[in-house]
Amino acid sequence: MKNFENFINGKFVPSDGSQRIEVKNPSTGNLICTVPDSNQRDVDAAIAAAEAAQRSWEKEPAANRAKLLKALAAKIRQNVEPIAHVITEEQGKTLGLARVEVDFTADYLDYMGEWGRRIEGEIVESDRPGESIFLFRRPIGVIGGILPWNFPFFLIARKAGPALITGNTIVIKPSEETPHNAVKFCELLAEMNFPAGLINVVHGRGASVGNAISTSSRIGMISFTGSANTGSAIMAAAAKNITKLNLELGGKAPAIVMADADIDLSVRAIKASRVINSGQVCNCAERVYVQRAVAPEFIDKLSAAMRATHFGDPLQDQSVEYGPLINEAGFRKVEKLVSGAIAAGATLTTGGKRDAREGGYYYEPTVLTGCKQEMDIIQQEIFGPVIPVVEVDDLDQAIAYANDSDYGLTSSIYTRDLNVALRACQEIRFGETYINRENFEAMQGFHAGWRKSGIGGADGKHGLYEFLQTHVVYMQRY
Ligand code: NAD
Repeated sequence: MKNFENFINGKFVPSDGSQRIEVKNPSTGNLICTVPDSNQRDVDAAIAAAEAAQRSWEKEPAANRAKLLKALAAKIRQNVEPIAHVITEEQGKTLGLARVEVDFTADYLDYMGEWGRRIEGEIVESDRPGESIFLFRRPIGVIGGILPWNFPFFLIARKAGPALITGNTIVIKPSEETPHNAVKFCELLAEMNFPAGLINVVHGRGASVGNAISTSSRIGMISFTGSANTGSAIMAAAAKNITKLNLELGGKAPAIVMADADIDLSVRAIKASRVINSGQVCNCAERVYVQRAVAPEFIDKLSAAMRATHFGDPLQDQSVEYGPLINEAGFRKVEKLVSGAIAAGATLTTGGKRDAREGGYYYEPTVLTGCKQEMDIIQQEIFGPVIPVVEVDDLDQAIAYANDSDYGLTSSIYTRDLNVALRACQEIRFGETYINRENFEAMQGFHAGWRKSGIGGADGKHGLYEFLQTHVVYMQRY
């Protein structure tokens, strides 16, 4: 069992405080390592290092910044197996998915590197003779990145990639549930002599490190991924300094299955979407609206597919489709939503309880039918391998129910009718819609939630430009 430290100014340094956080394997409950629950002084030291590094980093040509990101991507590709193992051990996803996460992280850094020569400003016409108006895109300064546990390694790159290519530096707080993969990331930085201060990692809880980042007047933007409740707390904390926010929050993705859909395709996609990472993915199908005419066939096939899903400890059995939930709190939330739905009249067609094997937080693949729009299981994020199904009369009702949500991240529709798909796209109020395919975003898109799912977004050109601020220069000839 190892005791890890923060990574500040290019070095592993002990925390100024004495509190430690124990990190456990959710598949077994076994202790993996500890990290510090750092304090204000640790965060201040990281911000100071990031500030000092930023001053010269922004002067570096973006093409050089890109080379560094690409070198980091190459370094990550040389270490896929050990990193994937660490992710699986502390987070519980399958090794296959952990490998995809590490590969995707390297690809993402390459992709962000490609923006080096593509960041553009604007020149606009002036009302005055002899004047030019230039809109320059400037870095913001020091970014605060606060991360969740569900794609912990990729999220480092989703924050650090756009931050660095645009000339910012960053202080990252990993989730206290999954800090070990961030330690691995920092080990790679140390091995390659990555310039000091560009990426700093401070471990700790939300109340300590998260709050210190959110209330700092020296942080130019907080880029946060996590739950809507924490997003709201961060907004309140950031209000003190009017700090810019970029928030990627929870989801409650509706999947609409129309009577003319390819039912087998919809079952495959919705099932995969619900069991990937044990159902703990912000953009994956959280509720199904199926047109009544095909509901019996769809429910039979979905229930059979879920029932056949193989789950267990992903380090012991590489054939599992999903592992445990992240922790006891996540587990209890799933349990409460399922029992509440049953008490309110929903029916289980498969699953519905904890699986106590090996001391992990395993929950059976579960399908609930006869669900009603007003049930908590249809309104609240489940974050587990549980899919509630509501029967609807037609597209109007499906769209009305889909839009009736605090969340507005992703959505999907299964139909063979182009007009139906187009109407759904025009009327559904979500940041992303998938038609006849699984829920998974592309790095060149724009992952942005509406309503309580967030402010701003990530990925692609628009995600990148969130890390820049505009400086207008009026140049008058005389
Ligand atoms: P969480 O909100 O509990 O924690 C996220 C991070 O915030 C952690 O690092 C935590 O320590 C920190 N934190 C907690 N309280 C804080 C505070 N008061 N101030 C500052 N920081 C604080 O979320 P989680 O359980 O780690 O992640 C799951 C959630 O993340 C789900 O709701 C999921 O939908 C969402 N998510 C969204 C996206 C997206 O792109 N929209 C991606 C992944 C996960």
